[in-house]
Amino acid sequence: MKIGFIGLGNMGGPMAANLAAAGHDVTGFDMADVAIEGVQLADTGAEAAKDAEIVITMLPNGAILRAVAAEIVPVMSTGTAFVDCSTVDVDSARAVAADATNAGLLPVDAPVSGGVGGASAGTLTFMAGGSADAFAKADPLFDIMGQKAVHCGASGAGQAAKICNNMILGVTMIATCEAFALADKLGLDRQKMFDVVSTSSGYSWTMNAYCPAPGVGPQSPADNGYQPGFASELMLKDLRLSQQAAQSADADTPLGQHATALYEQFVENETGLGTDFSAMLPRFEKRGRS
Ligand code: NAD
Repeated sequence: MKIGFIGLGNMGGPMAANLAAAGHDVTGFDMADVAIEGVQLADTGAEAAKDAEIVITMLPNGAILRAVAAEIVPVMSTGTAFVDCSTVDVDSARAVAADATNAGLLPVDAPVSGGVGGASAGTLTFMAGGSADAFAKADPLFDIMGQKAVHCGASGAGQAAKICNNMILGVTMIATCEAFALADKLGLDRQKMFDVVSTSSGYSWTMNAYCPAPGVGPQSPADNGYQPGFASELMLKDLRLSQQAAQSADADTPLGQHATALYEQFVENETGLGTDFSAMLPRFEKRGRS
């Protein structure tokens, strides 16, 4: 298949390389100077998108997605699938999908979970929004780049699933870290805390699979000096998107709001920038109640 791929960064680069390695004809474009194995480079986004049967974008945010869409939608042929895998706000995803549909294209918003490791290994999870026809056209490529793709509903449903999941993730990580810090102050051994909670009603993915305490539970960024993994600033981005969506949908999300404020404080005023999002544990460890 002839694929255009725009945004060849930490995620998009290995995703495009996997499509090329699977035998597809991939033409890519990135504003930065990049070289991706098996991928031919175009001089502009429009050049990468023109004549493609499917165009994939993997960009930093909704404003950039809107700008790229304005450039490429007019040059794409009717019936081409436009698959955006970036994490963006639901409003941008829906606006871009509406323009693409009006131009006779098949838009899919398909943000991913699995991080840079999943992008390289081809084990991402895709959560997709769009028509059944659009999803069916993109699905064989999801199979190459990932291990699972869920068709969540109409345009915007993929982004909605992503930010709801990551709002739970941010809130749960904070809860897990503050509980460890409390356990420390109560003199409870961290390993015992893990042994109990990981098999009791407080268990969660953040405790059981990504434990924020070094030397406890399975291997995680805590065992590697809190190098990301999933960086605190990316957690903050997704939490902000959840609050933007909650605001526009008039949803009451008090814990999501509080988690956003805590990661904001951590990233912008403390030591969180560039650390894994589980570094909330050493943050709480150092603090007292006031
Ligand atoms: P990145 O910054 O490494 O890559 C983005 C790329 O887009 C860059 O190479 C940049 O040069 C390029 N770009 C920016 N504007 C452009 C334009 N107008 N035209 C062409 N290229 C342009 O970011 P990333 O880590 O690859 O993340 C991409 C998306 O995936 C983001 O929306 C992010 O939230 C999401 N995501 C990231 C992770 C992760 O762990 N990194 C996990 C899940 C989802």
